[in-house]
This record gives sequence, C-alpha cells and structure tokens, in this order.
Amino acid sequence: MMTEIIAINPANPQADRIRRAARIIKQGGTVAFPTETVYGLGANAFDQRACESIFKIKKRPADNPLIVHICSMKQLHDVAEGVGEEILKSARLFWPGPVTLILKKTDAICDAATAGLKTVAVRMPAHPIALKLIEASGVPIAAPSANLSTKPSPTKVDHVLQDLDGKVDMIIDGGDTEFGVESTIIDMTKRPFVLLRPGAFTVEEIEKHIGGIRIPKGINKQLNSGIAIAPGMKYRHYAPKKKLIAVEGRALFLNGVKNLSEQGKIAVLCSNETADRLECKNLEIIRLGSEKNPYEIAKRLFDSFRLLDKTDAGMGIIQTFPERGIGLALMNRITKASYAYVRSEAELKRLQNLIT
Ligand code: AMP
Ligand code: MG
Repeated sequence: MMTEIIAINPANPQADRIRRAARIIKQGGTVAFPTETVYGLGANAFDQRACESIFKIKKRPADNPLIVHICSMKQLHDVAEGVGEEILKSARLFWPGPVTLILKKTDAICDAATAGLKTVAVRMPAHPIALKLIEASGVPIAAPSANLSTKPSPTKVDHVLQDLDGKVDMIIDGGDTEFGVESTIIDMTKRPFVLLRPGAFTVEEIEKHIGGIRIPKGINKQLNSGIAIAPGMKYRHYAPKKKLIAVEGRALFLNGVKNLSEQGKIAVLCSNETADRLECKNLEIIRLGSEKNPYEIAKRLFDSFRLLDKTDAGMGIIQTFPERGIGLALMNRITKASYAYVRSEAELKRLQNLIT
C-alpha cells in the first residue's frame, strides 16, 4: 500500500490537509495522527471493517480494545450511554486532555473497537490536529497507539514511519508529542472509580478533582519481578527487542553498570545526574534528561527504547524513578518493558549468572 505522508502544522492545522485526512477516515481508511500523549492509528469507530483493519495492521490481539476519540461533549452521547451528571462533571474537568474514561458503550460503536466488550474507552484529546481531524471526519475515531503491537509507543513521526509506512493510508507528521506516555485510564463503570492505567495525567491531580480512586495493588508490578524470569505479561508492552534490566537505587544501579559492562558492551538509560557519575568504559549512554523534570524523562522514554535497539550493545540497563506524579506512569512503562527488575545485590548476582 502507498502511504501518503503529509506535514500539518500543530499550532494552526491547514484546513485543506485536515480535509484530505478526514476523507480517508470517512471512506473507511486508516490515518496515523499526533495527539498530546503519543501518535494514534485512527479509523471510524462506527465502521467494523475499518476498526478490524487497525488490528491487522498492528498485529494487535483481537481482545485488546481501542480508545475512541471524540472532539466535543455532544459527541460523547454518540459513543457512551447512561452518561449522568457525575460522569459529565469528570469529563468536563479532564477534557480535552490525556485522560481516558471507561463508560457503557452505545450500539453505534462497532464491536471491533471495544473488542466485543459492552464498555468503551473514550477520550477527548488536547491536540489541535487530532481535534480538527475528528471534527472534519464527522465521526468518533478509534485509535490505539500507532506502533506495531509490543513495540514502544510512537512519540515521533519517525517511530510511526518505522512501524507503519506502507501499511496505512496516511501518516500525518505533526512533530513530537508533548507527554510521550499514553493517557491515564479510569474505569467509571465501577464505584469507587478504578485506575486501569497510570498515564500522562497524574493520580494526585485526579484525586484533587474527583476525590479518591481505587488503585489496584501491583498496577506497576512487573510479572518478572525480582528476577524470577517468567514468560511476559499477557501482552508484553512497550518493549525494546534487546533485554532491558531495571535496577532500583543509584548505588546498586552504578554497581550493576560496572559489573555488567565487564562482560560486554551495554547501553545505559539514565538521567543526566546519573550519567555524570558513570565511568565510560564499554558503555553507550542514552540520557533521559534531568531528574528535576520527570516530564522530560517521560517524553524521551519510548524513544530511548528504540535508540537502545539501534546500538550495538548486548543489553540495556535502566535506572528507576520515584513513583510520584508522572513517575507512576514512567515506572509502569519501565517495568512492563523490562526483562528483569533488580532490587538487591543478591538479585543482581543471580541475574549476572543467568545472562552470562
Ligand atoms: P492503546 O491506545 O494502544 O494504549 O490501548 C488502549 C488501552 O485501553 C488498552 O490497554 C486497553 O486495554 C484499554 N481499554 C480500551 N477499552 C477498554 C475497556 N472497555 N475496558 C477496559 N480497558 C479498555
Ligand atoms: Mg498501545
């Protein structure tokens, strides 16, 4: 398939280019577009065949539902049923923005978009290109992240091109995404509301607005916790191809770098502060930014996974961050992408024996 690639100015989207993209959506095609979280791969959420094509293109398991994107509060009623005052109040607070709400679906939403579930994930993105595209299409747009399944989510148009060029009808180049991690997902069909995925909008901020939400224990727990290296989670996510080891605590991390680099070249994914303490031998250093600005680190995380795969290092080692604010989402993505999570000298030793 020939993929049309067009640049659109995110600050002031050109109307004629938006119309071209919208025509593809209306005709049942697929368009990759930027949002403030990551790039999305969109299709008409009312069109079963169009949504099925998203699954084929991404090689996404058929039971992993999509997020449906809307551009107005009016459109919310086209996709969700039983939207009362309580939900409207939350929606008005969070939208447009990086929060996805799980609600009861309408019949109009096709089964492919929700993977057969009676609930639908809905979000109004805060990105001019995304909003204009939905508006011009005249339909809600179902869009998971615009990467191949299991690959890191795309935060730059180059990532989308790497994964989807030749497989989708159009890719919109709208520059780098603002947050670099996916939306926060809240299940609003349960009381209290339940956090399903930490994301760009922090839990602290949500609780300030709508009171307490339930955070399932172990939401950030890696299945390979410690180093009992088992087959991955149900859906391994966000992962680089090379083995990535997460090591907790700066002293242990520096020790891990030293020991593992004695056995071959490794890539080190860390903050500027940690990088300044590394002795550079046999190391490929991928800086994530300053610890003073965890948003910057989140923004670079998925790119750093793709950079790791481009190095000639045998494996990657990544530091951990406090699970506060955006750090909860950051650590969620790091644990899910990691082959092992190391917390002690003993675990580090066991790991070394395992991988050498
Ligand atoms: P992605 O856009 O690729 O990050 O994937 C969308 C995420 O939303 C997936 O992790 C889904 O499991 C989640 N999701 C979508 N619809 C629902 C739903 N009805 N109930 C629970 N989770 C959902
Ligand atoms: Mg995804």
